[in-house]
Amino acid sequence: MQKPLKTNSPKSKEYNHSYVVSLFALVGMSITGIMGVIGLLNKSFVLASALLLASLVYFIGYYINKKFRNVALCSSIIIYSLYLFMFYLVYAGGVENTGPLWIFIVAPVSVFIHGLKRGLLNISIFVIIVTMIMFLPTGDIAQATYSTEFKLRLIYSFLTVTFLSALYEYSREQSYNHALELSKKYQQLANMDPLTQLSNRRDALGILKHEQARITRNKEPLSIIICDIDDFKKVNDQYGHNAGDAVLINIAKLFYDNIREQDCIARWGGEEFLFILPQTLAKNANTFAEKIHEIMQNHVISYEDKEIKVTISMGIAQLDGNKSIDEVINRADKYLYQAKDAGRNQIFPKY
Ligand code: GH3
Ligand code: MG
Ligand code: MG
Repeated sequence: MQKPLKTNSPKSKEYNHSYVVSLFALVGMSITGIMGVIGLLNKSFVLASALLLASLVYFIGYYINKKFRNVALCSSIIIYSLYLFMFYLVYAGGVENTGPLWIFIVAPVSVFIHGLKRGLLNISIFVIIVTMIMFLPTGDIAQATYSTEFKLRLIYSFLTVTFLSALYEYSREQSYNHALELSKKYQQLANMDPLTQLSNRRDALGILKHEQARITRNKEPLSIIICDIDDFKKVNDQYGHNAGDAVLINIAKLFYDNIREQDCIARWGGEEFLFILPQTLAKNANTFAEKIHEIMQNHVISYEDKEIKVTISMGIAQLDGNKSIDEVINRADKYLYQAKDAGRNQIFPKY
């Protein structure tokens, strides 16, 4: 019985992913950069140029992610430039034909960055191309030569590393989703009143703070209504505490069913409820309060074989940009007590 929670969400999956991708870009840039410089010192100019080019591409990927927050583009730049560089290393052999050893980083990086499904698909295409480069005769162009045993073992061990990386990524994704679900569940429980399933006081205060920040930006009005059940002690005394609970649950549902999508209804205290009505002037909140009041006049709550009727009193206040949340709540509370003093079953202030 709760409109979607309007609480701040924990750091998202996207944020985490962007961070990992940036880290990969930085590590890739540093390693290829350092090796490129070593290549220059060793006078391996072709290899050094390829390494320095790769380093530049990683930097561009990092920059795109940081500046434009485009994780997808950055991921693709990292992965596909890594693949191209690996194809070059397998083809040319690198330093003393040790180049192909680097292909093992492709498996974990692919599944980390593109997830299990797309990562595995990419790896499959990668391994087919690597096999073709190593096994297909190319003719005239200078190409590294490897023994058949080396080529076969390279592919076998690469497939083994791929399998382990996929297994690791699968369990990582499972635990991540499980942790995310638990965190959402506990966050909901921490913000929910267990009896009525409405937002509790803590959630309502969070929503008010959030709305206040919005009001400051958009200069929109927001009103609150504090609603208290009249003589509720008598309900408990006359019908029992369980009947009192049933009344609270029933009224909570009635309130919830009558608010708009953007509104919030919270259980503020024992038999007190708080309506938060964004984009609503106090006089419109008054019209809404009258509607609720009217519904309550004819509302009968059935509990076991009893029929229970209760009345409510309400205090309204508008939250303006320059007022604190405490001030507006105190004002609504003051009006609620005026309504009680005036004989209960009414709304204050009167418009
Ligand atoms: P008033 O019109 O001045 O508001 O009178 P009241 O009797 O409603 O107010 P009072 O503050 O004297 O009593 C509130 C009662 O609400 C007392 C308390 O036992 C009861 N109450 C608070 N929370 C719950 C609850 O969760 N379940 C039940 N059954 N009763 C509750
Ligand atoms: Mg009360
Ligand atoms: Mg009361």
